[in-house]
Amino acid sequence: MVGMGSYTRHHERDIMQLTDLIYLRCPTCHAALHLHIGDGINGSVRCANNTHTYLIRQGILDLLARARPSSMAAWSNEWRLTAWAYERIWRPYALSILSGTSFGYDREQAILDGPFAHTRGLVVDLACSNGLYARIIAKSYPQKSVMGIDRSMPMLIEAQRRAVAARLPISYIRADARTLPMRGGVAEGIVVGGSLNEMEGIPQVFAEISRIAAPTSTLVNMALIRSTTFFGKIIQAVLAPGGITFFDPAAMTTQLAHYGWHIQSSTITGIVWFISATRTGA
Ligand SMILES: [Zn+2]
Repeated sequence: MVGMGSYTRHHERDIMQLTDLIYLRCPTCHAALHLHIGDGINGSVRCANNTHTYLIRQGILDLLARARPSSMAAWSNEWRLTAWAYERIWRPYALSILSGTSFGYDREQAILDGPFAHTRGLVVDLACSNGLYARIIAKSYPQKSVMGIDRSMPMLIEAQRRAVAARLPISYIRADARTLPMRGGVAEGIVVGGSLNEMEGIPQVFAEISRIAAPTSTLVNMALIRSTTFFGKIIQAVLAPGGITFFDPAAMTTQLAHYGWHIQSSTITGIVWFISATRTGA
């Protein structure tokens, strides 16, 4: 067990990395968080004001006590079967289907391998689902702290199961992208793997990403864009009421620039859009 003041990074245990608490703040009152009871497997975390307590269960820190997602796409992630099936069935083929060309994990790995080489410290996988990007980053950059954020507990449990099996020390935290639990300026890197398409309150999410980003931070975002083909438009019109938004690249680029992000590389394959951006306006 690890005690207060002597946190060590564990590589083989099923736990929240307690060293990562320094990056976090109370989502309610914004005070610092510290371990209150127990350990990084089962315990609780309390804020410095001693007013808010959050549970660590099965190694996952739950900073989202009562909120429920309201759109259908977010709801589907609450279903355990979806969490189980996501990386087993859908995710390996998703980008090949959506891009109309062979687009395996090796291509995503290559995209994620470059941008964080010169950063130190924390990388956040925002709305991480089963933690595919978090694992790629934890494997490629073992010196970094890697945190996966999602609001679906079944997704986080599956993500952590996969991280433990791969012996990768990743902290998984249940939180909302619109009110991120990190302190300002702590994230050297942020990755978003398609989840902006399922989120509500995108401007708020951009503002939060920009708040937690360090001045020289790098953002890698994979998003689905509006189709320009006839059938593509029909399919996207069917998906829209389910809470899936398809982006206009020009509009999103403008929005990112507004928050001080400068796009370094941009690749569109079918409707799959990868961008790497750095913070210049901070
Ligand atoms: Zn608090």
